[in-house]
Amino acid sequence: MDNRYKDMFLPACVHEVYSRRHFLLASSLATAMGQLPAWARMGERPGYNPFTLGVASGDPEPDNVLLWTRLAPAAPGLPTTLPAQSVRWELAHDSRFLHMERSGQAMALPEQGHSLHVQVDGLAPDRWYYYRFMLGDAVSTTGRCRTAPARDSLPKRLRLAYASCQRWEHGYYAAWAHMLKDPPDLVLFLGDYIYESASPGLSLGMARSHNLRTAQSLQDYRDRYALYKSDAHLQAAHAACNWAVIWDDHEVENDYAGQQGMGNAQRFAARRAAATQAFYENMPLRADTLAAGLSGPRLYRSLRWGRLAHLHLLDGRQYRDLQACRTTGAPNAGSVRPGDCQALHAASRSFLGWDQERWLYRQLAQDAGTDSRSSEQNMRWSVMAQTTLLSARRYPSGVQASDSWDGYPAARQRLMQQLSGAAGKAPRNSVVLGGDIHQNYVCALPARADLPPAPDNPVVASEFCTTSISSRSGTTQAKVDAVRAHNPQVLFARCEERGYGWADITPERWDCELRTVLNPLLANSPVLTQARFSVLDRRPGPVEG
Ligand code: FE
Ligand code: CA
Repeated sequence: MDNRYKDMFLPACVHEVYSRRHFLLASSLATAMGQLPAWARMGERPGYNPFTLGVASGDPEPDNVLLWTRLAPAAPGLPTTLPAQSVRWELAHDSRFLHMERSGQAMALPEQGHSLHVQVDGLAPDRWYYYRFMLGDAVSTTGRCRTAPARDSLPKRLRLAYASCQRWEHGYYAAWAHMLKDPPDLVLFLGDYIYESASPGLSLGMARSHNLRTAQSLQDYRDRYALYKSDAHLQAAHAACNWAVIWDDHEVENDYAGQQGMGNAQRFAARRAAATQAFYENMPLRADTLAAGLSGPRLYRSLRWGRLAHLHLLDGRQYRDLQACRTTGAPNAGSVRPGDCQALHAASRSFLGWDQERWLYRQLAQDAGTDSRSSEQNMRWSVMAQTTLLSARRYPSGVQASDSWDGYPAARQRLMQQLSGAAGKAPRNSVVLGGDIHQNYVCALPARADLPPAPDNPVVASEFCTTSISSRSGTTQAKVDAVRAHNPQVLFARCEERGYGWADITPERWDCELRTVLNPLLANSPVLTQARFSVLDRRPGPVEG
C-alpha cells in the first residue's frame, strides 16, 4: 500500500489529527507561495516523490503513443499546493533506457491536476517501448507500451484483456496481479473505474474501506482516483501495457442518463463537469477528448489493429435518453414491466445518441467493406467494446432491467440490423464486449435480439460480457440459473466470481477465457479459468471448450 494513503485506513480520530496537521502545513505553504512572483514559483520542486500515482499509456496507434502520469499532492485529501512543473519524459527501446528513442519536457499544471498527457509522434508501427518521467531527483516507475500494427497489415495476433467495475471496498485487485504475469497487447477498461459514493464502512465480507465523502467536487473526484490508483496491482497493470478506457455511470453518478442525474439539474451539471475533468486528468486519453469542453468529452472512437480487428469503443452514458418510466430525480433506474411501460418501446429513444449511432453504423459499414475491395481485404473482426449487456435478458418474473440495452429495445434493434446485414452488408465477424452487470455472460446474438435464436432468427454476433474486477453482483446463482434457463441466447452465466476476460485473436479464430479470482478478499488470490469459448471465422456465435 502507498504510505500516503495509510491514513485512510486509520481509525477516524487518528485520521482527523493527521489531516488537520497537513492542512495547517499546506495552508501556510500556500500563503507563502502566494507572495512569490510566478517565475519564482515555476522552478520549485515538490520535495517528495510526486510519482506515487503511477504511469500509463493509452490507445495504441501505428505511429504514436500517448503517455500519462499525474503528480501527486503532498498529502491525500488536500488541494495541491504544487506550482506548475516542467517534467521530463523518456521513451526508449529497452528497459534500461540505453537505446533512447525520444525524450522531452512537458508542463504539469495545477489547473489540470498536474496531469500529463504526452503524445509522442513519428514512431514505427508494431513496436514495444519503455517510458518514464523525471522531476528533480524523482524518477517514476518504468512503463511499457506499444504502437499498433500498420493499417494495411494483417497481424498474426492480438491479445486483449477486458475488464470493468473495480469497487474499492468489495475486493482487492488480484485479477490485475494475475493479468500482469503475461501482459496482453492492450487492456480494454469498460467502465466503473471508480465508485463515487462514500464507503459504507468495514462490514462483514468487505475487503477495505476509505474515509472519503461521496464525490461531488473536482477535489473529491481527484481524491477518489488517487485512492484507487494507490493500489499497487492496479498501478502495475497500467505500467504493463496500453489501456483503452471508456466510462459508465459510477465515474460520475449511479445510473445517470445523458444530462439527467439526481436532484437539481444545475448541481448535477456541475458534478458531471467535475467528474469529467477528473476522469480526463487520471486516464491515458488524448487531448482531443476535451476538444468540445467539459460538457461534452468525446470518448467514442475506433482503434484499428491492422486488418485483424477494428475496436469500436462506445459511450453508453453521455447521450442516452432517460431510462423508460424512470421517475425524474429518482436515485436509480429500477426495472420495468414491458407491458406497463409504453415509453420503453419508442423508436425515438437512443442508447448511444443519434450522432454516435450514425458514426458507429458508418464504422460497421466500413468493416463490412461496402466499397470495391475484395472481401479478403476486409476487416476480420469487428469489435464493439461497450459498457453493458447487449443481449436480451428476460427475467422469469416478467420485469426487465431498464439501465442496460434491454431498456432501449428499438435502439438495440437498429444496431442488430447493422450486424445482421439487414441494413446492407454485414461485417465479416462481429464480437461484442461488455461489463457493468458484475456477472460473466456469454451470449449468441440473433438478428432479432428480443427473440430466441431460431432457423428464421439466425445468430449473427457473439457477446462476452465480463464479470467485475471486484464489485459484487447483488444477485444469487440460483436466480442467474433461472434467467439462463429462460433465455436460450444466454450460453453461460455466473454471478459469484470476480475477474477479467482474456481474448486471443487471430485471423482464423477468437479464443476467450473467463478468468476468475478464487477469493477477492485476498490481494494475491489465485486466479482460475472458469470457462473457455471460441468464435471461428465466418461462424457467428460462441462455442464452448
Ligand atoms: Fe459496476
Ligand atoms: Ca455501471
